[in-house]
Amino acid sequence: GSTIGILGGGQLGRMMAMSAAQLGYRCHIFSPEEHSVAAEVSAQFTKASWHDREALAAFASACDVVTYEFENVPVEPLSAIPAGMLAPGTRALEIAQDRVSEKRFVEELGGLPAPFAVVDHDADLAEAIEKVGTPGILKTRRDGYDGKGQWSIASAHEADGVRVPASGSVYEGKVRFECEFSVILVRGREGEVRFWDSTRNRHDSGILAHCELPAPAIVGEQVEAARTLAQKIAEALEYVGVLTCEFFATANGPLFNEMAPRVHNSGHWTIEGAVTSQFENHIRAIAGLPLGDTASVSGTMVMDNLIGANALDVAKHLSDPKAHLHLYGKAEAREGRKMGHVTRVG
Ligand code: ATP
Ligand code: MG
Ligand code: MG
Repeated sequence: GSTIGILGGGQLGRMMAMSAAQLGYRCHIFSPEEHSVAAEVSAQFTKASWHDREALAAFASACDVVTYEFENVPVEPLSAIPAGMLAPGTRALEIAQDRVSEKRFVEELGGLPAPFAVVDHDADLAEAIEKVGTPGILKTRRDGYDGKGQWSIASAHEADGVRVPASGSVYEGKVRFECEFSVILVRGREGEVRFWDSTRNRHDSGILAHCELPAPAIVGEQVEAARTLAQKIAEALEYVGVLTCEFFATANGPLFNEMAPRVHNSGHWTIEGAVTSQFENHIRAIAGLPLGDTASVSGTMVMDNLIGANALDVAKHLSDPKAHLHLYGKAEAREGRKMGHVTRVG
């Protein structure tokens, strides 16, 4: 059978590899991590630095197609992978790795991000706050996830002690949203696009905690505009695979928050809650297979993340006949760490 290469070794790669196995593929994980929960369910594992071009070239030559489950893979060394083998491509990575280029890209396509100002030096912050107003959030341009690398700024004087990270940052106005939702789409090699239903997403301390269907009416009112933008993004990037865009539903319509050029935590419910999961359709898309039906199997569904010590209470979930328990096989339940999730459909 064919071999699918996956850059990144976390739980998203693990769930991708499990779907790939169902379709008869073998997976080969590339990750610098010592312990990879994706490698544990895959045929091969190359443990090497993201900057090791030789290792990347050897990895690619052992694969038929290469994808990624982690959006902060350094782009420059990826030229060691033959052009056309990588899906989605490097352009999606370049844009999604920098919050500023991501927002500008989306604005050019007619999307509306939260008001923002670039803050690359300590001296830029006061001006940014004056322009955008308070309250706001200062975010690192690069490498932030699960709310890490973000600082709330309630008033201008709070900014006095804030040190801007060397890699630069962006100051965003705090959006008064009614709820959050994401658009998850899959785009095939021939350009066909399909969408999953949009759940209401709830975050706790910057980390996704919960997704639910049905979403409030405002999501239904705004999802078409959000889908149109997400599809434009996918088309502009000649994207192949699953793409996620996060939105704030506000009184003035959907505001774009950020994108992830990959399968997404807010789509984990699709494993049991949709005819075809985000993981299976991602594999189908990059392998050039026909896409599967993205329809929900029920209008009612909840997905709860198991974060840190919450994951220790597995007996409760195992005794619930409706609960589909997923554990990622991570060794330590550190605070704020995503250890697994539980989905209940219907
Ligand atoms: P991840 O990539 O894991 O989704 P992240 O670290 O990139 O997270 P963001 O998506 O930027 O973080 O922010 C995390 C959460 O913080 C958002 O989902 C939202 O709940 C809140 N948040 C972020 N930016 C804003 C904003 N401008 N206004 C209001 N809330 C915000
Ligand atoms: Mg993010
Ligand atoms: Mg986010």
